[in-house]
Amino acid sequence: MKPKVYITRKLPSEAVEKIKQSCEVRMWDKEDVPVPRDVLEKEITEVDGLYCLLTESLDEELLNKANNLKVISNMAVGYNNIDVEAATNKGIIVSNTPDVLTETTADITFALLMATARRLVEASDYLREGKWKTWSPMQLTGQDIFGATIGIIGLGRIGKAMARRANGFGMNVLYYNRSQKNETEKELGITYTDKETLLKESDYVVVLTPYSPETHNLISGPELEMMKKSAILINTSRGGIVNEKALYKALKENEIYAAGLDVFEEEPISLNHPLLTLPNLVATPHIGSASRKTRLKMADMAADHLLQALNKEKPDHIVNPKVFSEAL
Ligand code: NAP
Repeated sequence: MKPKVYITRKLPSEAVEKIKQSCEVRMWDKEDVPVPRDVLEKEITEVDGLYCLLTESLDEELLNKANNLKVISNMAVGYNNIDVEAATNKGIIVSNTPDVLTETTADITFALLMATARRLVEASDYLREGKWKTWSPMQLTGQDIFGATIGIIGLGRIGKAMARRANGFGMNVLYYNRSQKNETEKELGITYTDKETLLKESDYVVVLTPYSPETHNLISGPELEMMKKSAILINTSRGGIVNEKALYKALKENEIYAAGLDVFEEEPISLNHPLLTLPNLVATPHIGSASRKTRLKMADMAADHLLQALNKEKPDHIVNPKVFSEAL
């Protein structure tokens, strides 16, 4: 009998066809609407494999309903949407999609840095709204990138890709990470520092850690107060790492210069959110990995992981490796 798989969103057809070759597949067939909780609750009781996105919250209550589930394949590198401990206790393999999206996400992180520094969105609106009457010496002036100091919090895959970009732009690179990376320091000519020094000395603070209880509100009022008045904060990792109330206050009162966010405490962010009233915020709708090529690679990689686990092979990227031998 073929294993049963549930896919929580309409996927590119190549990935679905690949899974269909050896599995009985059911899929939430909508592209822009997440699967409702009650539907997922019903589907998860029956299946051997679940292919999901970061929009699905796979908590303990839901996982307790999974009687046959062997693998959760998440089409994202971040997996804070999954209660990994609960999955591990139930012997369920959890996989994610690292590496394939690293460069694409570093691109959007750097794009947000440039857009906030040089006020690109504001300048574009200025032109379209007919405000451009003449060239003038201090019109729409922003901050320099060349020669500035960037502080990267979380020097993992994307953090390193960001450091390489910063080197190319002639920036001075500081980083703070859970563990010091001596080899990378030598390779990229970057400097390890504590969080406080990084916040005080950086012109750009870029957050690239995963979201966890440890990193919840890693940047809040006291951290924003340590930053320079001319500094810019970029968060492309996960909402919740930056406290939005504190950020609103810091931007509104010009305690920092600007911020660029691709991720929010609640997604989609409400259009009534106070942050969206501020001209010194550039906001994008969680599009870090959204190049066509990368999204297709992620979809394909997550399909491979699902099939590997169902074939009793170790998925190429497994979040809870200790469960592997016990789960099969
Ligand atoms: P990664 O390679 O695992 O890197 C994460 C880094 O953060 C690691 O170096 C880790 O330190 C460090 N870290 C963890 N907890 C920390 C803490 N409390 N304080 C300081 N540093 C800490 O992950 P990645 O592939 O670079 O991805 C990073 C995150 O970006 C993902 O988890 C995801 O949430 C987010 N992301 C967002 C998008 C988007 O669309 N916006 C796309 C892709 C990824 P160690 O080296 O000591 O483990």
